[in-house]
Amino acid sequence: MVIECDVLVVGAGPAGSSAARAAAEAGANTIFIDKKKEIGIPVQCAEAIGEYLIPYLPFSIPEEQLIWEIDGMSFWAEGIAIERSGGFWSGYAINREKFDKWLANNALGAGAKLHLETELINLEFSEKYYITKAIVRTGVGVREIKPKVVIAADGVHSKVLNKLGFTNLKDKYGKVLSFEMNNLNLYKPTYEQLYIGDFAPGAYAYIFPLSKTRANVGVASLFPTKKLEKCYAEFLEIPEVKKQLRNGNKVLEKSGWAPIRYLTDKWVYGNVLLVGDAANQNFKPFVEGILPAIICGDIAGKNAYKFINGGDSLSNYPKGVKNKLGNLFLESDRVLDILHELGKSSDKKENLLRLGLFANVFSLKEIIKLNFEDYIALKRRLDDILCLKPKLID
Ligand SMILES: Cc1cc2nc3c(=O)[nH]c(=O)nc-3n(C[C@H](O)[C@H](O)[C@H](O)COP(=O)(O)OP(=O)(O)OC[C@H]3O[C@@H](n4cnc5c(N)ncnc54)[C@H](O)[C@@H]3O)c2cc1C
Repeated sequence: MVIECDVLVVGAGPAGSSAARAAAEAGANTIFIDKKKEIGIPVQCAEAIGEYLIPYLPFSIPEEQLIWEIDGMSFWAEGIAIERSGGFWSGYAINREKFDKWLANNALGAGAKLHLETELINLEFSEKYYITKAIVRTGVGVREIKPKVVIAADGVHSKVLNKLGFTNLKDKYGKVLSFEMNNLNLYKPTYEQLYIGDFAPGAYAYIFPLSKTRANVGVASLFPTKKLEKCYAEFLEIPEVKKQLRNGNKVLEKSGWAPIRYLTDKWVYGNVLLVGDAANQNFKPFVEGILPAIICGDIAGKNAYKFINGGDSLSNYPKGVKNKLGNLFLESDRVLDILHELGKSSDKKENLLRLGLFANVFSLKEIIKLNFEDYIALKRRLDDILCLKPKLID
C-alpha cells in the first residue's frame, strides 16, 4: 500500500509535532510518524525551559504544563559559587512525557495524521537529496509513503540524515547520563544548579529541580576522556552535592544523546528540511533544545506548505530561522567554538573560565584574552568580582 501526502514529518518529538501542526494548520496534507509506541516515552531530558524563549513560541504553553517555577541558576567550580536570578536565568520545569503528548495532540487537532510504531527504514530518491518515497516499518508490515516534502525531526541519530549520506556523525553528539531522583534535600529548590569540574570534561553536571524534593540529576561530557558512570560517581562525591542527595533515590533513568556540533552544513537538502536535534538547533552552553525545536519546527512546517502551494523556496526556512533566532544561534555558535577551544587543555583554570562563561561573568571576548592568565590570577579575578558584586543577583 502506498500512502501519498504533502508533508511527511519523521519524528514526533517537539520539533516534529510542531512542524506537523504548522504544516497541517496551513492546509498541507500532513503525516507525522514515530517509531515509538507512545509519544514522550522514554523521557531523555532534564526537563528545563528558559523563560526568555517563551515570547518566540508560535503558541502559548498552558499553565498546567509548567510544573515548577525556576527563579535562577547557581554555578559552582573550584570552590567558587555564583548565583544568577531573574530574566534570562529564570524558567520552568516541565514533564516531558506530558509536554510531548500535548504537542502531538496540537498537531492532531490541526489535522495532521499520526502513525506510531512506524519507523523510517529507507528512502528512495529521484536525484540527489530529492526524496520520492519513504519506506517505513509498521506493526503490520512494511509500507511506502510518497511525500512532496520531508521534514527530518528524528533527533541526533537521524535516519533521514543517514540515508541522505551523512553517515559519520559519531563525534557530533555526546551522551548525557541523567536520573530523576526523589527524597532530596535541595538547598534552594527554585534554583537550577550547574557544577563544573574534572567530573564533567568540557561540560557540566547538573541538579535541575522538579519540586522541593525531586530533581533531574545528570552529567555530560564534551570530551569522552572517561566513562560517564565514573563522572557521575565523582560528581556525587562533591560535598555540596552529597549534602543534598545523601538520602536520594533514583526513580527513573532519563539519559540520552545531545548534539554538540552541527551534524551537517545546511538545514535544507533537496526537498528535505532538518529541524530540532537533527539540525543541532539548541542553545549552548546549556544545550537547550526543547523550545528552539518548537520554534524552528513551526517555521519549517509553514515553509513546507508555502513551497507546495505557492512555489515558495525551501531555502526560506533557514532564512526564517535566522530572522527569528539568528542572534541567539550566533551567540551559541561562538560559545560552542570557545568550549571546544577550552577543552583542548585539561588545566584546572579551564574550569574557572567555563564558570565565568556559563554564569556570564566574563564576556566571550574576555574569555579569549583570559585564556592566557594562570589559575591563581583567574581565581583572584573571580574572587574580586564576586567581592564587589556578591552572588551577582540580577
Ligand atoms: C539527558 C538530556 C537532557 C536534556 N535536557 C534538556 C533540558 O533540560 N532543556 C532543553 O531545552 N533541552 C534539553 N535536552 C535537549 C532536548 O531534549 C532536545 O533538544 C529535544 O528533545 C529535541 O527535540 P527533537 O524533536 O528534535 O528530537 P527528539 O525529542 O529526540 O525526537 C525525535 C523523535 O524521532 C523519533 N525517531 C527517531 N528515529 C526515527 C525513525 N527512524 N523513524 C521514526 N521515528 C524516529 C524518536 O523516537 C523521537 O520521538 C536534553 C537532552 C538530553 C539527552
